[in-house]
Amino acid sequence: MITMHYFRKTLFVILLITGGFILRGQNKSPEIKFVDYYFENGSPLNWKIVNDTLVISLLPDYQRETLNRQTDHWYFKIITNKGTRIKLTIEKMVPDVYNGKPATDWWNYRTGIPCYVSYDNKNWKALKTSTLPGRELYLELIPEADEIYLARLPVYTTADLKSLLDRTKGRKGIEVIDIGKTVEKRPLEIIRLGDPSAKFQIVIRARAHPWEPGGNWVVEGLIDEFIREYGKNAMNNFCFSILPMANKDGVVRGMTRFNVAGMDLNRAWDKAPDSLLCPENYVFVNYITSLIIKGTPPVLVIDLHNDDKGDVHLTNRDRNDIQYKQNMERFEKLMRQHTSFSESFRYIWNDNGQPVVWTINNGLYNRYGLESFVYELNANWISGLGRIPSAEEWKDTGKGLLHVLLDYY
Ligand SMILES: [Zn+2]
Repeated sequence: MITMHYFRKTLFVILLITGGFILRGQNKSPEIKFVDYYFENGSPLNWKIVNDTLVISLLPDYQRETLNRQTDHWYFKIITNKGTRIKLTIEKMVPDVYNGKPATDWWNYRTGIPCYVSYDNKNWKALKTSTLPGRELYLELIPEADEIYLARLPVYTTADLKSLLDRTKGRKGIEVIDIGKTVEKRPLEIIRLGDPSAKFQIVIRARAHPWEPGGNWVVEGLIDEFIREYGKNAMNNFCFSILPMANKDGVVRGMTRFNVAGMDLNRAWDKAPDSLLCPENYVFVNYITSLIIKGTPPVLVIDLHNDDKGDVHLTNRDRNDIQYKQNMERFEKLMRQHTSFSESFRYIWNDNGQPVVWTINNGLYNRYGLESFVYELNANWISGLGRIPSAEEWKDTGKGLLHVLLDYY
């Protein structure tokens, strides 16, 4: 009798539990119909629904030979029913690896990682995420439409670039020059603004790393401002050569850092780039050396990036070069004056005992004696404005940057 009693009681409890689960599942279903990332710049990912939460797991891309890896980009569309609350976590499938060591921090906890949402795939609004103890990012949202796009940063694809090129086509003082092709044979173009024989040649590169569209928005703003200012006397002495999307293959494929051959376009600048593995750098260096050969070497090369700090990274230099220091201080002051820049100029002295990191600026200075720096736009926070960045604010930075350059030279 006791056994039977126990059996019935246990069965009752089991039914209660499973019934509860089924009910809970029905009541709290996140109503996700599909997750779509099959479009340009869509991020490779896995997704699943665990209880009431959509779990997004992002795939890294790898560096050739070192097998370093990085995962920072996401961009996908959720198809659901509008008005339903969606709980969402975003995680890296595996931790990043830098210099052969797995990263301990998956995301930057200090400023928080925003997630951008859009209903038209064009206008992006930032939402705050929180970081769970398991290192996933967590987000809750109630979509206002049946389809909602989510992205790491305001998206900028080759379609945006095409509309920029169309906008500039045929304009006075603007020329688009084909300089070669990516690994996957996509065209690489330089947008040249101003007189090619002008005294001050300035070269700008954006999007060496696909997850970092901030530079694209800066370039848009700078070009718009150039068009507005063109014809004024101050502009006559300037020529800007802009490579707006260096890592086009990576952008198209929704990658984070490397090109499709696993090359980092902002490393290994101490030597000539490999024309097959790294044609994006190979043709860019050819363009720069052609300026040198023509007797119009660039006075400055700026490489635009995003990171979670937002500093300007200067070149390894001699600590006693007082003139250099004064110049950079003047440049920094103008940046603060004309743009929302409020972070720091980071000097790196040759005698600091650290090995040189062969980023583009160090390579161009050492191989050709060119002045250059890497400008990292903070991807999470514009401290000068006290806001999460937007495409418009980065365009304003580009506008301001033009005036910094006009004033500086
Ligand atoms: Zn970068």
